[in-house]
Amino acid sequence: MKLILLGPPGAGKGTQAVRLVEHFGIPQISTGDILRKAVKDGTELGTLAKKYMDKGELVPDEVVIGIIRDRLMEPDCQKGYILDGFPRTIAQAEALDEMLEKMGARIDHVVNISVADEEIIKRLTGRRTCPNCGAGYHILFDPPKKDGICDKCGTKLIQRDDDKEETIRARLEVYRRQTEPLIKYYEAKQLLRTIPGEGSMEEIFNAILKALGE
Ligand code: AMP
Repeated sequence: MKLILLGPPGAGKGTQAVRLVEHFGIPQISTGDILRKAVKDGTELGTLAKKYMDKGELVPDEVVIGIIRDRLMEPDCQKGYILDGFPRTIAQAEALDEMLEKMGARIDHVVNISVADEEIIKRLTGRRTCPNCGAGYHILFDPPKKDGICDKCGTKLIQRDDDKEETIRARLEVYRRQTEPLIKYYEAKQLLRTIPGEGSMEEIFNAILKALGE
């Protein structure tokens, strides 16, 4: 199963990808996670990416295309994968098509999780993560037992730099302008399945499985 998760930032792609990884036994490939790790590790890639990420802009196509090209060659991708946050531009989608063609493979489904802007802002401004163990929380929907402290390891929770309201508005704008055209791109290839992204995690997960014919 080769799957693309499409949708605005905060649509729940990452959360749903984790469930899909368990269900299908294939890896999640998140360009956002790969780039955040590079920033944390202070690599050359991280230094370059941070400049764009802090402003809510997209990292240049050739950089993320290179990351995906290397990642798809790894042995754990043989049976399939879930692409989360890639492609994000038409140029990335075309590069992906070209890579897959060379590998004799193709995408099976593109799941588009659709959520309104105001809901996204509410979701993302409340998002908190533990810098130590990676656990995720939400101040309204999934708060830790003790304010601002990780339930699992007691570390002080942080807000992702790009989850500040100003940056979120920039990311949404980028999404509408550069990523939303992919909906038509995959519709034309008859791969697109749109799921309403407002509901419980469970409801959305079941809707995705249904759309995939599971
Ligand atoms: P995400 O965690 O998917 O929301 O990604 C966080 C940030 O990483 C984005 O706002 C971009 O700056 C960068 N990024 C992640 N994936 C891509 C991509 N496919 N193309 C360009 N930039 C990306």
